[in-house]
Amino acid sequence: MGKMGGKGFSLARRLYTSRTLGLALGLLCVSVAMYPLNPAPWVWGLMLFNGLLWPHLAFQWARRAKRPYHAEHRNLLIDAFLGGFWVVAMQFNPLPSATTISMMAMNNVAIGGMRFLLAGTAAQILGVGVGWLIFRPFFIPETSQIQLYACLPLMCFYPLALGWICYRQAYTLGRQKRELLALSRTDSLTGLLNHGAWKDQLEVEFQRCQRQQQGGAIALIDIDHFKSINDTYGHVAGDIVLRQLSKMLKQNLRATDVAGRYGGDEFCVILPDLPLNSAAAAMEALRDRFATLGYEQNPALKVSLSIGLAAFNPRHTDATLWLNDADQALYGAKSTGRNRVICSDERPRQELLGSV
Ligand code: GH3
Ligand code: MG
Repeated sequence: MGKMGGKGFSLARRLYTSRTLGLALGLLCVSVAMYPLNPAPWVWGLMLFNGLLWPHLAFQWARRAKRPYHAEHRNLLIDAFLGGFWVVAMQFNPLPSATTISMMAMNNVAIGGMRFLLAGTAAQILGVGVGWLIFRPFFIPETSQIQLYACLPLMCFYPLALGWICYRQAYTLGRQKRELLALSRTDSLTGLLNHGAWKDQLEVEFQRCQRQQQGGAIALIDIDHFKSINDTYGHVAGDIVLRQLSKMLKQNLRATDVAGRYGGDEFCVILPDLPLNSAAAAMEALRDRFATLGYEQNPALKVSLSIGLAAFNPRHTDATLWLNDADQALYGAKSTGRNRVICSDERPRQELLGSV
């Protein structure tokens, strides 16, 4: 939606381009068909108005409307009505009439689907009725060669322009869909995967580990006493700590590792193809580095991490059991004094590190 107007302003802008082109080419097609019929001056006037002025008037009308979408709906019905009117005025000359009707049908269906197509057809029939009352037409089932040539620009260029507009719209929609999908998977504070997206990745990794009957590890990382950090230094300082941790995760993990924010002050990492002892060493290094980190605004602030680790185990029948093991390990880290890494197999960390 553009800066001006409400719902449908971008539709009005798109239609402005296609209407300006379509009606200018339509003027050529209709006027060459009308010329041998020697129309009255007011008919020439109406033709010129419809072909050259109406697109600009229609755009300004929609642009200034409270709801440009509704205004454009009305404009499209006026287009269709005038289309029907010109078909009768041309004495149903076959090629210009079929061109006019089919181009309008294409326009209506591209913009509003079946609903617009039906409404446009009804307006065209009304235009035919009014034209009939005014012109009392004969049916002339012949198109001269020059009339055929006059229809060609409309037949060639208008579908091209409309196709291009539709392509651009589909391209923009595709890009917006990708952007929205990325946003829906991202935690806004830290830029890491959010809870749902990380769990999707965990499921993928779990399936892979099950197929290969071996795999990596997962880690749950929780900031110690984060509530009191918020209480002492304020929530802004708390947010800085959360961002620092996510930055450290991004910088220190391998490209294949998948980090996410599980929720609140809890983070989660998938470490594919990493034996538990190596995963423990990586998490120990992270814990150590984070504990020594300084904060510009609060030099006295020191923050520690508790980390629970769990390796994939063939006895895990689903990803939740794997996650539960990491959660139990995290609980173990919290309950044995915090600021430590604990592995779910309960072997002391020193022993694991010793075997790196
Ligand atoms: P423990 O050592 O046992 O983990 O204690 P804790 O204080 O870290 O744990 P608790 O779960 O009680 O506190 C987590 C706090 O994190 C509570 C909540 O207000 C805070 N929190 C959650 N999300 C955010 C956030 O986005 N920003 C900030 N600043 N705080 C948050
Ligand atoms: Mg905590």
